[in-house]
Amino acid sequence: MRVVQLVLIAVISGLASAATNSSYPRVNACAALEAALLGDVAYPNTTAYIQLNNYWSDQQRETLPRCFVTPKTTPDVATVLKILTRQNAPFTVKSGGHVPFPGGSSIENGVTIDLVHINGVDVSADRKTVSVGPGNRWLNVTEKLDPLGLAVVGGRDQNVGVSGLLLGGGISFFSGIYGWACDNVRKYEVVLASGNVIYASPNENSDLYWALRGGGGLNYGVVTRFDLAAFDQGDLWLHMLSFPGTENRTIIVGFQNLTIEGLPRDPAAHSVLGVASDPFTGVTTATLTFLHAGVPSPPGSVPAVFQPFESLPKALATSSSTGSVSKYLTLLATPYGGRRDWGNVIISANFSQVVLDDIMSLYAKRNAALIKNGGGDTIAPLALLQAIPVNVLAQMQKNGGNAFGLTPSDGPLIMVSFPISWTNPANDKLVMNSTKKLLADVAATAKKHGVYNPYIYLNYAGLSQ
Ligand SMILES: Cc1cc2nc3c(=O)[nH]c(=O)nc-3n(C[C@H](O)[C@H](O)[C@H](O)COP(=O)(O)OP(=O)(O)OC[C@H]3O[C@@H](n4cnc5c(N)ncnc54)[C@H](O)[C@@H]3O)c2cc1C
Repeated sequence: MRVVQLVLIAVISGLASAATNSSYPRVNACAALEAALLGDVAYPNTTAYIQLNNYWSDQQRETLPRCFVTPKTTPDVATVLKILTRQNAPFTVKSGGHVPFPGGSSIENGVTIDLVHINGVDVSADRKTVSVGPGNRWLNVTEKLDPLGLAVVGGRDQNVGVSGLLLGGGISFFSGIYGWACDNVRKYEVVLASGNVIYASPNENSDLYWALRGGGGLNYGVVTRFDLAAFDQGDLWLHMLSFPGTENRTIIVGFQNLTIEGLPRDPAAHSVLGVASDPFTGVTTATLTFLHAGVPSPPGSVPAVFQPFESLPKALATSSSTGSVSKYLTLLATPYGGRRDWGNVIISANFSQVVLDDIMSLYAKRNAALIKNGGGDTIAPLALLQAIPVNVLAQMQKNGGNAFGLTPSDGPLIMVSFPISWTNPANDKLVMNSTKKLLADVAATAKKHGVYNPYIYLNYAGLSQ
């Protein structure tokens, strides 16, 4: 029933077809937008166009629109959508531009609606709600909230856009306590293709509210305001540990136990495990990142939930610190540039040693082939493990549940994603095909051993997914 309703919303809003229609009559939509907005349109070979064409990956930056339009208000967005849909013009919407693949939030020869100027961050008088404009990056939000002793469930990288992260899901430092970012949106302001402005909350357009929490945004409308639940928050604690690849098995099993038992016992704890492969030797290094939403007492101690890792020998490097949310958004940011791809497979955290060995062996074989065939290009593969413990799955049931369809009985889960970067465009096919095959092989292994979960996390989904 809900699927039917989603399709209906998409058809009624007309956005899905408008954004992809191939019979665009090449009427000059850019000129019409410029006339209607009295400016706010940027054309190729201008400084404004070059500045707006900032994307995390090179492939998105190379996908060039006829113009960028930069509405400043919700009525501006309504005007833009009316013009574009009337002309049947192909368009896309951009917030932080962090989808890696071409066309993610860029469009060749179409119009890119860049929301950069709709960037308010307003705290309600009772400090319970923060209204956030869709053109913000997460650092804009945390820099406003940190001095107030407030936070919202949001991104972990300073430059990621609020919109994409909130509309696709949103794994946050605070997810153990509150769920993913989308589970903590009280209300959306949405402009439909018709130009009508509507609101979606548990009490108003509740089906759209459900769909926007994880179903991706652009199929349903352009979100022009997110009202986010706020909470009191002070400094965080961060701890990082790196180990040589010889310890991968031990570290991954430790992370598995943390997901199954540790994180549900201490919802303020958060962790990510990355196994990076050296671009030239294929030698791996495992890095554990631990965060805690409260500073441990006594100062300098390690919270009990992470203690099992402290006794592991052979750590190559460790670091600990405390600081604001903004500090860690900046510290953990992944720089712009380079060619990028990724994709994810979700498995039960209750996997056996065989599954772990199979996945790591598929990853190593794929990486060795890239070293062999990449012509000396700097191809940098990563396997990223992110926990979806039962406490997070329980939080996802709030407000009528989100669009993922996951329940605590599906968990605990681990998302295995495979981000990769490289520099030579000649290797695009080689790398992207290798990621696609790796994802298929890992999914097949997980299915064979009965630990596959069909859910794919949109925000780390590859083009083939
Ligand atoms: C370095 C890095 C760090 C990341 N960290 C995290 C993390 O901590 N947690 C996590 O869960 N994910 C994370 N991600 C994944 C991230 O959530 C997704 O890539 C997300 O889509 C990026 O959002 P954006 O606004 O920057 O992207 P964009 O590319 O601008 O937009 C993403 C999609 O949303 C659509 N869209 C944008 N704005 C709107 C709007 N207002 N209304 C309707 N549709 C809209 C776009 O058309 C596009 O389809 C990270 C990604 C990167 C590259």
